[in-house]
Amino acid sequence: GKVLGKRYEIIEKIGGGGMAIVYKAKCALLNRFVAIKVLRPEFINDKDLLDKFRKESQAAASLSHPNIVNVYDVGEEDDIYYIVMEYVNGKTLKEVIKEKGKLNKDEILDFTRQIALALKHAHANHVVHRDIKPHNILITEDHRAKVTDFGIALAATSSTITNTGSIIGSVHYFSPEQARGGYTDEKSDLYSLGIVMYEMATGRLPFEGDAPITIALKHIQENPELPSQYNPSISKDLEIIIMKLLQKEQINRYANAAALIEDLYKVKNNFELGDMDNTLRM
Ligand code: ATP
Ligand code: MG
Ligand code: MG
Repeated sequence: GKVLGKRYEIIEKIGGGGMAIVYKAKCALLNRFVAIKVLRPEFINDKDLLDKFRKESQAAASLSHPNIVNVYDVGEEDDIYYIVMEYVNGKTLKEVIKEKGKLNKDEILDFTRQIALALKHAHANHVVHRDIKPHNILITEDHRAKVTDFGIALAATSSTITNTGSIIGSVHYFSPEQARGGYTDEKSDLYSLGIVMYEMATGRLPFEGDAPITIALKHIQENPELPSQYNPSISKDLEIIIMKLLQKEQINRYANAAALIEDLYKVKNNFELGDMDNTLRM
């Protein structure tokens, strides 16, 4: 088959999003599988997107953590721009949710903790992901979660709308500040993780709509139904964590990923969550 950079032999296509196509490949030199993300050819003349793609490699390459997909190499040849990364044999969290409908408490706690650990590491290195969603979380057969797709992590502007007018990221997981096109920071990732938790707990999204603008406005204006409306077996303490992540004001969310991890630990061990009485009254 086709060979990239003289050492990667393309085996098959394994995925594709808005911006890129992802292939499984083999690194001949090290005799291991890798995943290669290639910028879609229609975008190579789009300076905005090319810049975004380069920044994605930089952001991801600056991180090294067991819950973040490891970036090995980047390359550009004959107008092909690519990122070589750890090949994760598994499914996306989106597929896992689709198959199971709802996840149980232990699964939710376990996956959320792993994603929060990834965020803690990224945030400590001044990288905000900005596109946390189940499609960007890979789950291995032994239930390890790995965050990928730092595509808009280093986007210099806080804007979610490009010069050409297309929206970056998935509006279902936008924080209110992202939906407003305002200033996004670490807390925006925490909100998006709250949406992901909501989806794991209920099998549905808190805000739906026909047009992106409708969904964006709901993030800004509407309070979500409590997860227990859709899953009566969801425990109160888990629900409190989800609602604390989904607070509209950044200041009312967890201070950081570490604080979230602390509460996940408490729930796991049946310790009481402190001082959370107001969280469910939004
Ligand atoms: P988006 O539209 O979400 O921005 P994208 O074009 O930036 O997508 P990615 O999200 O990075 O592309 O990858 C697309 C898909 O390819 C993923 O959802 C996943 O199914 C698969 N994939 C990505 N990276 C890997 C990897 N390292 N190992 C295995 N599969 C992967
Ligand atoms: Mg993606
Ligand atoms: Mg992306």
